[in-house]
Amino acid sequence: MSSGNKLSRRGFLGALTALGSVSLAACATSTRQASRLWAADRTSGQLPPRGEFVVRNAYIVTMDPKLGDIPRGDVHVRNGALVAVGPNLAAPGAEEIDGSNRIALPGFIDTHFHLWGSFARGIVADGDFDYFPVMSRIGPQMTPDDAYNSAKLGIAEALNSGLTTIHDWSHNIITGAYADADLRALRDVGIRSRFSYGYSRNLQLKPEQTADLADIARVKREWFGSSNDGLLTMGFASRGPGDTPPQVYRQEWENARSLGIPITQHAGRSIAEIKKFRRIEMLYGDKLLGPDVQLIHTYNASPQERQMIAETKTHVSIAPFTASRLASGLPYLGDLLAKGVQCSLSVDTTTVGGNADMFGIMRLMLQLNHLRSMNVLEVQPRRILELATIDGAKDLGIANRVGSLTPGRRADLILVRTNELNTAPFINPALLLVQQAQPANVDTVVIDGRILKHKGELIALNAEEVIRKAAESFTAVRKRAGGPY
Ligand SMILES: [Zn+2]
Repeated sequence: MSSGNKLSRRGFLGALTALGSVSLAACATSTRQASRLWAADRTSGQLPPRGEFVVRNAYIVTMDPKLGDIPRGDVHVRNGALVAVGPNLAAPGAEEIDGSNRIALPGFIDTHFHLWGSFARGIVADGDFDYFPVMSRIGPQMTPDDAYNSAKLGIAEALNSGLTTIHDWSHNIITGAYADADLRALRDVGIRSRFSYGYSRNLQLKPEQTADLADIARVKREWFGSSNDGLLTMGFASRGPGDTPPQVYRQEWENARSLGIPITQHAGRSIAEIKKFRRIEMLYGDKLLGPDVQLIHTYNASPQERQMIAETKTHVSIAPFTASRLASGLPYLGDLLAKGVQCSLSVDTTTVGGNADMFGIMRLMLQLNHLRSMNVLEVQPRRILELATIDGAKDLGIANRVGSLTPGRRADLILVRTNELNTAPFINPALLLVQQAQPANVDTVVIDGRILKHKGELIALNAEEVIRKAAESFTAVRKRAGGPY
């Protein structure tokens, strides 16, 4: 089926439904366009056009401190940008989307997600099937096609759940083709992302060898040109001190900084790790920390190390599901925020955390902080919602483009239904979003002005195909790994 001029029956019915909510004036002028912005087209491989539309009568949570919440208002989008946000907007010619009984808010921003392992969620458990042994066995057996299929499963789940930005922490890059595979999957789905070029399971076993610096430069050149500010941006994912000798990590970090790309590093995750080395202290001693560095986890950072993080304005990404599932430790969220540290939230990996579900991540983060602090007032739901939106954007260095519904920024937004069995009656948006809502309540997802999910249906993605290809890839990888893995 070609895109545009033929509609599937389902797409046609979707278009009729959409037309039902369009005003007569808009209907008379651009009926055809109304059917194109969110008519399902899951076979062409094309992303939908950006176009012009307005969300009417939503409860708007802008996450912009100057604009605040707008209990009944409109969001006007044109060519990928937010034109205006407010009550009763004039938007002649724009297609209309009904926002009543929905919260409109910035899309969720994940800041650390190992997409490559997404297809392995069915077997990661405990003991010999713990995350690290399983990934070490299957990682080297993956082909670039497997990497694409696995990453696409993770990206599709994220998009469906209301995540509009993810940080692909890609640490199974056996050759450059694996980096390209991840980048193609991100591009094909149309999600906003930082792609952080990491290492491979094999390279993890060769600490004296640096990552492929020439290929990092190639990816930067071929995928990002001279800029690092489009829908996809680039970073470097480091193994770091403790796992590599000083001459290796110092050279890798210097290389990243010479390319102008930020650095991300796991640090202080487990008790076992800090018994072997204190990575944050080591990086601080080397004067390598700074605002272009994102540390992942930090649950076992000492008070001195947390001070080092604050002093150097280093960022921290917290993954509450993997922290608790792997018995890593309780995050020091309240303490880090009180020190002024830029914090954000992450999926980490769905093989351990279960889902790419930012509602669940926010809820668990809130509750883990209650247990850490024994003080339910230390961090409250609205602050957690900031971490999942505007603070995620600040962590990834993209807050000038997304993270809040501010006119002039790129249009990354979601609509969450408020009148369902698990969310009604709607009173307080922060409570609804952090303590009650689930991905099933995500009605609409817009990324860079493209409507990628509407009325609960994915527009451009064939979920059945994504699932089938991921499953086929995983079966083949397990066989090559000598099964039963
Ligand atoms: Zn991780």
